[in-house]
Amino acid sequence: MTSSPSRTDHFPCAQCGADLRYEPDKEVLVCEYCSHENHIDIDDAPIQELDFRSAIANQLSDAQTETTTVAKCSSCGAAVEFDPNLHADDCPFCAGPLITDVPAHRHLRPKGLLPFTITEDEAKDSLKHWLGSRWFAPGELKKYARADRKMNGLYTPYWTFDADTQSTYHGQRGDVYYVERMVTVMTDKGPRRQRQRIPKIRWTRVSGRVRRWFDDVLVLGSKALPKHFTDDLAPWDLHALLPYQSEYLAGFRAEAYTIDLREGFSEARANMDLTIRRDVRFDIGGDQQQVDALDTKFGEVTFKHVLLPIWIAAYRYRSKTYRFVVNGRTGKVRGERPYSRWKIFAAVLLGALAMAVFFSVLYGSGALDQMMYDGGFIPQNLPRGVPPVFFPDSFR
Ligand SMILES: [Zn+2]
Ligand SMILES: [Zn+2]
Repeated sequence: MTSSPSRTDHFPCAQCGADLRYEPDKEVLVCEYCSHENHIDIDDAPIQELDFRSAIANQLSDAQTETTTVAKCSSCGAAVEFDPNLHADDCPFCAGPLITDVPAHRHLRPKGLLPFTITEDEAKDSLKHWLGSRWFAPGELKKYARADRKMNGLYTPYWTFDADTQSTYHGQRGDVYYVERMVTVMTDKGPRRQRQRIPKIRWTRVSGRVRRWFDDVLVLGSKALPKHFTDDLAPWDLHALLPYQSEYLAGFRAEAYTIDLREGFSEARANMDLTIRRDVRFDIGGDQQQVDALDTKFGEVTFKHVLLPIWIAAYRYRSKTYRFVVNGRTGKVRGERPYSRWKIFAAVLLGALAMAVFFSVLYGSGALDQMMYDGGFIPQNLPRGVPPVFFPDSFR
């Protein structure tokens, strides 16, 4: 065990000794029992980046790692920091039971975090508003949101990478030019000769180099939530990252990373590759570009393990789990929502009914016959008196 404070540290109230809790809107530690406010001494040292290559070669000092006990979820695989004071706890991601007899494991200490600035009440309001604007969500789900249920404040693990890259490429540049030629086209008055401009592409072989410095490429360090969920919570104000201090975690939970540093980097690298390819296309210029070979050298690569604040609500509806996440800094909401089959069916039925009324009016007025003569889209062999009903494509 390291001597540095562990993440399940408790901060006793200076006045009554009860556990303090970090208060997002006041940015202090507050006692729930006597309301005493305890100031946080903010560490204003710059956040240190670590060298990636030394880290994967296991050459980091003990001060950079820590051992903590985590609780694991057997249904979704999430690993959350185990708080012995919270027994019989549910998984914050899927509401399943947590297994607590997991051996302690050693991992990299977080370097920085963004503290919560959105309170639980504000997160609930964001969620209610988000669900309220989704008409197809079932009523039970909206009831759930209105029922003022607890949301879990969770610090989610992320990796950020900085890298200096130099790439060489070989490819082709395509420039559009036009040729004119005479063609024969069919018109109402028979075939006619016409001048036509035809686009062609001239390809030239090119090669070159591009250089790019990447700063804070963010990668999620967990698989507990679908990636598109958490990706959608962006942007994060990473320039406001504070050095890691366990005071900010008082009353909240932290998730341990389950995507390790190496895996995190390969994802960051894939993101960087996309940007480099864009740079290469820009460097090639012309109207079209083809990249045949690309070789990127990563110079200095550094990283940070950081924690970002997310409010989360997990809930079971018809034996499926639905989750909602709220960005703890901006209040942005993402979630899975079941569609009410009944509401969709009613909407389709109403739509069909409206069309039936529309066509029977046309039919009665004789306009329909006119449409048939015009070669419209009305079936020709319709028995008289039966209004046709059309369904939207998605219904077939
Ligand atoms: Zn107190
Ligand atoms: Zn779970």
